[in-house]
Formats: sequence, C-alpha cells, structure tokens
Amino acid sequence: MKTIKMRIELTSEQRKVVDHNIDANRFVYNSMITACKIVYHTTGHLPTVFDLNKLGTQMRHNHGYIGSAYSTTLNATSKRVIKACEKTLGGKRHKGERKAESTAEEDPQEPNCSAHFPRYRPKGSFSSFTYPSPNDFSVVTERRKGKKRRYLRLGKVPGLVRCYNQSTKIEGRVKTCTVKRKDMGSYHQYYACITYETEPPVKDETPLPPVAVDVGVSNIAALSTKKTYPNDHIFRTYKKKLAKLQRQLSRALYGSPGYRKIQNRIDHLYEKINNHRKNNIELISSEIAKNFSVIVMEDLSVNSLRKISKNRTMTNGYNDASLGLLRKRITDKASSAGHDVILVDPRDTSQLCSSCGTKVPKDLSVRTHVCPCCGYVEDRDVNSCYNMLQLAGLIGVIWLDPPALLPHREQNNQTPEEECAGTTV
Ligand SMILES: [Zn+2]
Repeated sequence: MKTIKMRIELTSEQRKVVDHNIDANRFVYNSMITACKIVYHTTGHLPTVFDLNKLGTQMRHNHGYIGSAYSTTLNATSKRVIKACEKTLGGKRHKGERKAESTAEEDPQEPNCSAHFPRYRPKGSFSSFTYPSPNDFSVVTERRKGKKRRYLRLGKVPGLVRCYNQSTKIEGRVKTCTVKRKDMGSYHQYYACITYETEPPVKDETPLPPVAVDVGVSNIAALSTKKTYPNDHIFRTYKKKLAKLQRQLSRALYGSPGYRKIQNRIDHLYEKINNHRKNNIELISSEIAKNFSVIVMEDLSVNSLRKISKNRTMTNGYNDASLGLLRKRITDKASSAGHDVILVDPRDTSQLCSSCGTKVPKDLSVRTHVCPCCGYVEDRDVNSCYNMLQLAGLIGVIWLDPPALLPHREQNNQTPEEECAGTTV
C-alpha cells in the first residue's frame, strides 16, 4: 500500500461542500465518543464499529445538517473513533492514575471509571474526512488545452477537482481518499491523500554493499562509509526573525487586523522551517535507501534521546535533525525498494572501541574516538557505525574492507580485557 498526498484546488462551491462535510464529521465524531463512553461505563467494553455505523445512520435521519453530508465518510469516522478509543484505553495514562487501573484490571466485571477517552474536537482541530471505498471517488485523466491532466471526482463535490501533483503516477488500484484541510491563517489549503495497492517489491539482486547509519544531533546521519550529513541547524537561521515577529505580536492588539497579519507571518515562517527539515530528511533517506542493500540502524526511541538534551539549543538541534522521521522514511523507502533494515541494540555503540572492544567512556562533546589500549583513532559516529555492523554480524563479510578494523583481535587471540591489561602493565 502506498499513499500519495497532493494539494487540490477547490472552487468556492466545492469548498462549501468539503467544509460542510468536515464539520458534519466532526459533530458525528464527538457524538460517537460520548456513545463509546456511555457503553463502556455500563457494559465494560467498547461498542463495535457496526453499532456506531447504526448510530451514524440514525443521526443522518434525524439531523438535516448531517444528513446532507456524504454517508460513507461517517462510517470511516466511526472506525476512527474506535481506533482512537482503543489507543487511549490501552495506551499510556497519567502517572497518578496507574493505581486505579491496576485494581480495575484485577476485577474485569467492574468497568474502569478512570478510563481515558479521546478528547472532544473543537472547531478547527478536526480537519479531515475519508472516502473509505473506491466507489465514492475516482481519479480521472482529461485532456484540456492539448495537455493530459489528472483530476479528482469526489462524492457530493460538484464538478472535477483540480490537483497540483501531476508528475507522481498512481500505479495500482486506488483504495481510499482522505481530504484534509490545513489552516494557513487567512486562508485554507486542501489536500487529498490517496492510498493505492501496489505489488510487493521485487527483491533487488544487484550487489549493493551493506551500511550502518548512526543518527545524532551534530551529524543527522553518519554512514560506515565515512560519509556524514551534517545538521544545518535551520532554526538558528530564522531565530532572530522569529523573535522580532513574536515581539511585534506581543505589542499588537489581540484580534485586530494587524495582529492577524503578524500571526500569519509567524505561521508561514514555521511552515518554511518545517518544509526545510522535511526536504533534508527526504534527500538523505532516499540516498541511503537507494545505494545500500542492507541498512543497519539503532533501535532507539527518539523521545528518550530528547530527554537527555541539556538545553534549549540542543532541543532545537533535535528538532532540526528530525531523527524519528528520518528512521521512518529510511525504513519505508528501503522496504519499497526491496532492501533490508536491521535494528540493533543501541547500548554502548558509541562507547566501545570498534577495533579491540574496550569500553572508552566519553562525553557527548567528544567527537573523536581515541582508544588508549590499541591506539585506534576514528570519528565518533563512524566508530559507532562499525560497532553496529559488528552487532548485526556483517563485519568482514562482503565488499566491506574496514580500513583498520579487527587487525588486533585476529593477530593475537586474546580477549579485549587481557589485551588491554597486557598493554597497560
Ligand atoms: Zn581499541
């Protein structure tokens, strides 16, 4: 399954229909959450999607406003409600409520009173709806002014909808279409996300080398081929401009035209920074996924990484590096190209010496690895990459000729500790 996201341009009539659909779906979403709460507190379990669909149909008959919305989009919303409820009920909860949960789990008959449900969506925070089947929409190609152009036909939306992204092809059977609205301050942007089925990727037979990717703040990614992608710290570039605008905003009268104008400028600046970060990630991930057949990465949670960040500058650096997104994009692109991704344990990868295996503790600010036992000197991130390759069992296999790797261990069959003791004494 693949998804293509493209911006769509709506006429004023079409915009009315889409906005109405979004608002009706929001109303149904909130009502269904209430229904889930009532059912859960009386019976101890959630209603099924079928039950919620029935409720949606009833609402469509009783409310004229919801009745004029596209019916199957409400069914997609009921699925969304169930998914959201399952996530909040089974997922993380607030620290204080952990005790209450455990007692409720012991007694399955008693419904959990402190259970968390998804929050109600106010106007503006709910901005999408889904056409769940290919009968509700279609992708049309028409010739206009001598050029073939792609259009969308959406349920209840009058006429054809113009699309921006014409170059990316949709190869395969379309499945669903989600229409999204993005608030840009003074106007809205609309997007259509079309999912379509593709054939499973053919395993690439051309011999490509394996690689280890070490992610971090100063280098977004460092490869075992010694190539590094430095962090350009885009936030620093716009920091002063942003601060100036924030100052202006604080002086403006809330709600006045001037206030909205400055708010728009700030929104656009944040948008620009985000787009820059996303573009960086796309470029890096596609280069890595295309050129290597086996990609070794650390299995680390980005949230825990962010927690060790010492100050605001470092946190901004983490945001600029977008490490979670990078890992996701590399995994996605590699799987669609038929390449493998191996996740290894991240413990001590940057502390161990890749040549002799001795633990060399070093701070985050130390960028070069110097081993006191064997004298091996290497860039910190590249050393960590070699360790990851060893963990994945790929060292010394094919194509790789690690320059100064493992000579010590092969020559004298000592354990690292013995070897180290021998040299220091
Ligand atoms: Zn060493």
